[in-house]
Order: sequence, then C-alpha cells, then structure tokens
Amino acid sequence: MSKTRVYQLAKELDISSKELISKLEEYDVEVTNHMSTLEDDIIEIIKELYKSGEGNMNSADDENAIGLPESISVKDFCDKIGKSVTEVMTKLVSMGVFATINQEIDFETAETLALEFDVAVKLEGAEEEEAEYGIEDFEDDPKDLKDRPPVITVMGHVDHGKTSLLDAIRETNVTAKEAGGITQHIGASEVYVDGKKIVFLDTPGHEAFTSMRARGASITDIAILVVAADDGVMPQTKEAINHAKAAGVPIIVAINKMDKPGSNPDRVKQELSEHGILVEDWGGDTISVPVSALKGEGIDNLLEMIVLAAEMQELKANPNRLGTGVVIEAKLDKSRGPVATVLVQKGNLKVGDPIVAGASFGRVRAMINDKGKNIKKANPSTAVEILGLSDVPNAGDTFNAVKSDKLARQIGEKRKAKFREANLNATTKVSLEDLFMHIQEGEVKELNIIVKADVQGSVEAVKQSLAKLSNNEVKINVIHGGVGTVTESDILLATASNAIIIGFNVRPSSAVSNMAERENVDVRIYRVIYEAIEDVQKAMKGMLDPEFREAVIGKAEVRATFKVPNIGTIAGAYVKEGKMARNAKMRLVRDGIVIFEGDVSSLKRFKDDAKEVQTGYECGIGIANYNDLREGDIIEAYIIEEIKRD
Ligand code: GDP
Ligand code: MG
Repeated sequence: MSKTRVYQLAKELDISSKELISKLEEYDVEVTNHMSTLEDDIIEIIKELYKSGEGNMNSADDENAIGLPESISVKDFCDKIGKSVTEVMTKLVSMGVFATINQEIDFETAETLALEFDVAVKLEGAEEEEAEYGIEDFEDDPKDLKDRPPVITVMGHVDHGKTSLLDAIRETNVTAKEAGGITQHIGASEVYVDGKKIVFLDTPGHEAFTSMRARGASITDIAILVVAADDGVMPQTKEAINHAKAAGVPIIVAINKMDKPGSNPDRVKQELSEHGILVEDWGGDTISVPVSALKGEGIDNLLEMIVLAAEMQELKANPNRLGTGVVIEAKLDKSRGPVATVLVQKGNLKVGDPIVAGASFGRVRAMINDKGKNIKKANPSTAVEILGLSDVPNAGDTFNAVKSDKLARQIGEKRKAKFREANLNATTKVSLEDLFMHIQEGEVKELNIIVKADVQGSVEAVKQSLAKLSNNEVKINVIHGGVGTVTESDILLATASNAIIIGFNVRPSSAVSNMAERENVDVRIYRVIYEAIEDVQKAMKGMLDPEFREAVIGKAEVRATFKVPNIGTIAGAYVKEGKMARNAKMRLVRDGIVIFEGDVSSLKRFKDDAKEVQTGYECGIGIANYNDLREGDIIEAYIIEEIKRD
C-alpha cells in the first residue's frame, strides 16, 4: 500500500500512521511506494475492525508497558514500577519467593509480580540490548544529512539475464581509460548517470537481502527485477517478487531480451499483474523498462529510471560520523587474510580505523574500491573491500568503526561470548511441535508457511487447504510457494519471517538440511497433501503426535547399475554420508525430487551380504520392487525412531 494511502486511511480512522502500519503488517500488507488493487479488501477489513473497536486491542498496553531487563534486582524493580520495597517484598513472599532486596529476579517472576500490582511490563527489546558501550548510536540531526547514492540489487529467474544486464550496465559506463584494464571483482560496482552515482551489488538479489533481513539489516534501496520477454514470469521471478515485497523494497522491472523474435512484453506485464505487480501502463505505479542486455539497448533508459526512483526516495545519510554499514561478502584469502566487502551506510570509514564486524575486529589496513584502487576513505553508499580483520565475519553482519583498538577488541570478544551462549540456548523458532504452546501463551498469532512441491498443482492445492485452516487464534499465511526442492534461499526466507517449510515429494540437499538445523527452521516433508494439512491442523490444537519421527541415517550415490537376472536392477553405489543399512527404509531422490519410497532389499560389499556400509565405501544396493535406477540418483536410507518425551 502506498504511504499516501496509509496516511489518508489513518486520518479517516483517527489513529496514528504507525499504529495502522503495524496493523497492516498483521495482514501482510507492506507499506511501499506501490499500491495494488488487492488491498482494497484488506482496507475494508481493517475499517471494520476499528469501527467495531477491536483494532487497537493490544497496541495500547504495549506502549505504556515498562521495559525490564532479563534479570533485575528487587530494589531496582521497586524503583522501576514505583512501589515501595515493603509492598513488593510482601507480595514476593506471598508468591513463595524469598529474596533479599539485592537479589536478582528473572523477568518471568518480575512480570508476574508486576501483574499483581496491575502494572504492565515488557522485556526490554533487542535494540536496547544491542546498545553496546563504544558503538556510536545516535539519531542524526536532519541538518547533518547529505544525499547518498542509491544501492541496487538485480534479481530474477536463472538465465533471464541478470549477469548480462550488470555487464551491460558496467560497459555503458566504462571510460576509455579503464576499458583495457582488468578490474578486480569486489561484488559491487559503481556507475555514473549524468554525474550521479548508483551502486550495484553483484550478489544474487535474493541472498543479498534475505540474509541481511534475517539479521535485521536492509541494504538495497531498489530491486531490479529482470524478466526475459520470451519466457515471462518463472518460479524464481515469483520468489524474487516475494523477497522484495517482504523486505519492503521498491521494484523496477527490466523486461529483457527484447531483441529476441519471441519476445512478448505484454504477456510479461499480464503475468506480473497476476503476482501483485502492476506496471505503469497497466495503471499501476511500478516502472518497467524494455531492454536488451545483449545489444545494450534500453540500458540508459533503465539507469535514468533508477535515478528517478532513487530521487523520489530522498536517500540521505550523515557522512561525518564513525562509519557503519553491512558486510556483503567475506572470505579468507590465502595471502591477505580475512577479506570483507562492506557497504558503508552511514558515516565514513577510513584506513587506520579500529573496527568491529559481527564478532570479528581489527583495524582497517587497506581499502580497495570496485575499480581495484586503494582508497583512504569511503563515504555512505560506497562498497569497499577491507583488510585487517581478525577473522571472517558473516555476510549480513553489521560493522562499526569505533574510537580505539581496545574498544574494538572488547566489543568483538563480548559478542563472541554472547554468540556462544546464544548457540547453547539454541534460539527457539516456531515449529509445529510447539506451535500450540506458543498459541496458548499468546505468542503466536500467525503461522507463516513456505510450500515447496514437485508440481505446481500441489503447491496450489496445499496453499488453498492451508488458508482454510485459519481461525480466530491463528492466521495461516503461505508466504511463499514454488515448484522444486527446498533451497537455501527458502531457509533464509523462513528464518527472516519465522516460517516453517512444508515440502511435497521433494528432498532438501544435505547442505540445506544442515542449514535448516543450524537456523532452527522446521522443515517437514510429506508424500500426501492430506497428511500435511492434518499435521498443521493438529498442531494448532496441540494434538500433534510427535512420537515417531524418521531419522535419515545415510546417503549413497548411484554410480553404476547392474541387471541381475531374477533379482532386478542393483545399484553400484558410493556411501557419501552416514551409512547404509540392510533393514533401513529408503527413498530414491533424483534432482531433488523423491521418485520412489520403499525398503532396501539387499546390501552387499563385493560379493558378501553386509549389515551396514559406512561412509567412503562402495556397495551394491537392491531396492524392493523397484528397478528404474539411474546413475546420479541418491539413495537416502532412514529409520523410524521414537522420540523420547521429557
Ligand atoms: P542470469 O542467469 O540471469 O545471470 O543470465 P545470463 O546473464 O547468464 O544470461 C543467460 C543467457 O541469456 C546467456 O546466454 C545470455 O547471452 C542470454 N541473454 C542475456 N540477455 C540477453 C538479451 O538481451 N538478448 C538475448 N538474445 N540474449 C540474452
Ligand atoms: Mg548469472
């Protein structure tokens, strides 16, 4: 929904724009510079809500609640809520807590206690916790703000021309003097249009801002959505749209490959409209530009449009404070040590500055720009490679220049300790198993779900069935659905939006499974739609039966196949992970899609029967009632294990 519309609607309902925006977010409406017709229904719902007085139920108490830390001494608690020590101690004793006035009580106790006094409290937010000593953290005075260049990412379906477009953009801008020189690749490039700078990030857009968003950072100001005119909207195009919308980043559509005989820009526009993107000549306000990256046509026009869209955003930053921004990429270089490409977002970064990036720290030893030149100082919206960090930070980490080396080290080490602790307490994300508990505690009002399936039909069927499960307590949002296996990008999106992932007849790769585990994302794989729906339904009622769960014990790759008379096809396989076992169940995965599920019927090492074959060994595997094995297939062995309940 557009900002103006929010403003008007807020006025009409006589509430603050801020309140309305948070309400809109509950209904998944992002406030951007765009507007779509879909939103009219939601506006009606919200109007109804406010008119019936239900809309502002929970926003009010939150505002007045007193912030408390995770642990507080009884004395400080008394001060905070403005009650006498005697009153508080008496209540505590009646609750069965015997504490001295200097003793610390945890937030839960403090909250219960506060309730006794009819005082609303809340756990001090992450921002307050994040305020670290030594990190410069103040709001800029508007008069200190200067214009800054826009930061752009390019997204779209594979082969639609993202790389070609970036190349074409760079080429248009290469000056004669540079043309021959080899420019060092730093994952970002700067181009000039009528003397105005634009910064392009090379990282595929999805990752660029989804991983950043998962860490609460946003880096891009505008997303360029590349759609091939001869191919139209494809799965990754939709994914890109979802990512951009989720991050609230305005989109400019580049309809590419206009030179191709089969190009059909109108069809592209039509398809985009079906996905909530209404281009200008269709009455919407999304800019679309026809281009040919191959022939270099329309590129100037696209760049002009970017400049225009950026001007509308009035992007500003204070260049005169300690530099801060985001790590875009980082790696360990054999000769140069940890190397990070960072985007300076505020202030300026100079060679010699002490710096912390995530949990790594150091001093900026050298800065290299996109042209491969050493520079001394980087202002807002500049991407530079920096040397001098103690170790490799994560993409998406924020970095800050600080006043001294000592501070940098202290902050870095404190963060390291904190991460270690956080890992121990493994952050709890929503999972089907504990959904009901969260619902009961009022923590979950929405369940975000990502659906991946082998065919579009299943995606649609699941989406529709899931949507019907929404009730008064929980709203089910399918935030993304697509054909294909579960990817890292899905896990990132799930992390960013606290979603669970439901897959049909697909298998995530080991890398993706590991990532899901690391990020605590609940990924559930089903063979039958009805079972998935039933699980979600049960989870909402707290009746999910998590007593048995399958555990993958190993994976083997089929390297050759042999036909054995009277027995069938046997796979000559190599155990890549875990082990194969003769009594295990198995599934056959081809290109991430499950094509058969059944039992291992025979397992041999050379000529001998084997009970188990471990990683790194070759073996012969037979599958009960199945012969269509092919080279490259993955045999995944699993067992059904009982989950021990506490
Ligand atoms: P990416 O996967 O989105 O980065 O796509 P690429 O930039 O690698 O392009 C995929 C293929 O499309 C390559 O063979 C390009 O040469 C071709 N291609 C890209 N842009 C155009 C274009 O404007 N016209 C034509 N005819 N081909 C293009
Ligand atoms: Mg590419």
